[in-house]
Amino acid sequence: MTLAMTQLLGALPTVDEHHVDRRQYPRGVAFMDGQYLPMSEAKVSVLDWGFLHSDATYDTVHVWKGRFFRLDLHLDRFFGGVERLRMKLPYDREKIASILNNCVALSGHQSAYVEMICTRGTSPTFSRDPRQAENRFMAFAVPFGSVANKEQLERGLHVAISETVRIPPKSVDPAIKNYHWLDLVKGLFDAYDMGAETALIVDTNGHIAEGPGFNVFVVKDGSLRTPAFGVLPGITRRTVFDLCAEIGLSATAADISRAEIKDADEVFITSTAGGIMPVTRIGDASVSNGHVGPVTRRLMDLYWQKHDDPQWTTAVTYP
Ligand code: PLP
Repeated sequence: MTLAMTQLLGALPTVDEHHVDRRQYPRGVAFMDGQYLPMSEAKVSVLDWGFLHSDATYDTVHVWKGRFFRLDLHLDRFFGGVERLRMKLPYDREKIASILNNCVALSGHQSAYVEMICTRGTSPTFSRDPRQAENRFMAFAVPFGSVANKEQLERGLHVAISETVRIPPKSVDPAIKNYHWLDLVKGLFDAYDMGAETALIVDTNGHIAEGPGFNVFVVKDGSLRTPAFGVLPGITRRTVFDLCAEIGLSATAADISRAEIKDADEVFITSTAGGIMPVTRIGDASVSNGHVGPVTRRLMDLYWQKHDDPQWTTAVTYP
């Protein structure tokens, strides 16, 4: 070995053989490269375009008391996103449904947050051409999580409206569920700076868009409205439309201005991570009288009742 080489090696840090991974991983099971793994072992390559360029699509479905909620709608959205991104899944729909089932069953969770992901992957020759990449499918099941905790669900969330503009639909199609979250994370920091618990950000026209992981609804004079433009077509949002149709409430997708949301009788947000969640404070003012309203309560009750209905759910097959 030359002196220069010896000096170089001396200057490089050595591998710490006693390194211990002290991160906490949620208890759960992942599927990757044909194998089921504990969450702590489910890792992606730093060269995957999903990581390097956010070139990925995903979907999240939840399991409640041993049953998937609206699994078919989540699979439809996921397969739609994969197709629009010109990716190819290595498995068909039936196989993916069975992988999701197995992740939940092996984790033993009765209530779970279940994610399916397709990334661009990498090219075997490190080509920069996305057409050469080998797309990757992975999935995992971890304990059920919610945007709002128990106390927030009871008293309603405190939300701030950030001036941050959601990435325009002409740049990133919001119907493809994606990890382009820099705008949402900036909104969240703006909200924390304003003393709120979470954020809503605006669309390119300055109307209310959505928040980090949720859609939003306003109730005014008994009718519901949710933004139509530049937002993810959420499955919980769709579920609110279905519930409203069942009980004869009017619900439409149309622009909501900042003034309108502040003047609403009730406001709630919707997400697979938590369902229908009340908002009782926006910025420094209460929504109406500051209490969770009757329409929100009724929809929350109905939403959770539907989790036992075989028409809306699929039972997990546990070993
Ligand atoms: N909007 C965004 C940006 C999201 O990431 C999500 C869910 O993760 C939602 C809305 C709510 O969609 P869903 O009801 O399908 O969970």
